[in-house]
Amino acid sequence: MANQEDGISRRAMVSGAAVGLAAAAASAGPALAKPQAPAQGTPATGLKDPRSAGPKPPFQRQSQPWPGLAGKMNPRPDHGETSYRGSGRLAGRKALITGGDSGMGRAAAIAYAREGADVAINYLPDEEADAREVIDLIRAAGRKGIAIPGDLRSEAFCKKLVDSAVKQLGGLDIVVSNAGRQQAHASILDISTEQFDWTMKTNIYAPFWIIKAALPYLQPGSAIIGTTSEQATDPSKDLYDYAMTKAATTNYVRSLAKQLAPKGIRVNGVAPGPVWTPLQVSGGATMEKLENFGGDAPAGRPGQPGELAGIYVILAENGSSFTTGHVYGAAGGNGLP
Ligand code: NAD
Ligand code: MG
Repeated sequence: MANQEDGISRRAMVSGAAVGLAAAAASAGPALAKPQAPAQGTPATGLKDPRSAGPKPPFQRQSQPWPGLAGKMNPRPDHGETSYRGSGRLAGRKALITGGDSGMGRAAAIAYAREGADVAINYLPDEEADAREVIDLIRAAGRKGIAIPGDLRSEAFCKKLVDSAVKQLGGLDIVVSNAGRQQAHASILDISTEQFDWTMKTNIYAPFWIIKAALPYLQPGSAIIGTTSEQATDPSKDLYDYAMTKAATTNYVRSLAKQLAPKGIRVNGVAPGPVWTPLQVSGGATMEKLENFGGDAPAGRPGQPGELAGIYVILAENGSSFTTGHVYGAAGGNGLP
């Protein structure tokens, strides 16, 4: 898992680095003849080996009813609960994150709170158990954690959600539109109009309604972040409806960024590849895909949600004030954002 430091491989890398330095010094001549290499066995500071940062396939077949719970997955996803360390990068900020109970949304919520932001999360009522854990983690970081359950397929609820978040946070300057619906279907013939509508309402209409409702509150310097996918540019054959919504997400990021730059509001996207989250074990992936989940990525494994936390932070923070209209990928070596 991401939070487990692999002492053996770190030592191996350090000694490998020392050998490399010595060889470089030898070929560079006498001026560099005595490299200041770390002593044998000294751990390198702050290095995390991506090869051992998360479990690899094969995974156990497992299935949960939609929307699924992170707490019931095997293995449990790593959202950075024990590993993410903040340094005040979002001090005083106020964030609303949809789908903040699990997956990328939970990873962003934990990171934002530890970076000094107050955070409101939205999720479905069935996800209360996951959401409670996130609220506790936000509060443990010393920040305001606000839970606003409800179904984003309703325009009226989306408006209520934003109003309630603004009221309880005392403002709003980060909107992470991250909630998503994904169901795999082998054939377009298997997708009912109801299913199609469900995917469209969750992935396309809800961000439209939420951003419209939030805009009047967003001051210059605010950030909107949409979670898109590698599916936007490289769609799978069994994700016909889902993949088109992700193309739409990438597209709205680029359009809105142009529209809102003159108002000082930035809009960016995050495009994950395969990440170990409840969405995948509650109909998002077939059992065959799940067993070998992430195995096709050059990294040889799926990402853990916590491995994307830093991207959500970077796109929200003041340090990225010239970054807008971009999509930042994290797919273990495959795909284009
Ligand atoms: P997840 O299941 O942890 O998160 C999805 C969340 O969406 C759920 O927790 C739920 O709270 C929310 N949601 C779904 N329908 C909703 C509704 N009608 N009303 C309110 N909330 C609703 O899974 P995740 O993978 O972290 O998903 C987050 C985002 O990442 C999604 O937009 C998804 O499309 C995207 N994504 C995921 C992957 C992956 O491999 N996991 C890859 C690319 C993109
Ligand atoms: Mg969830």
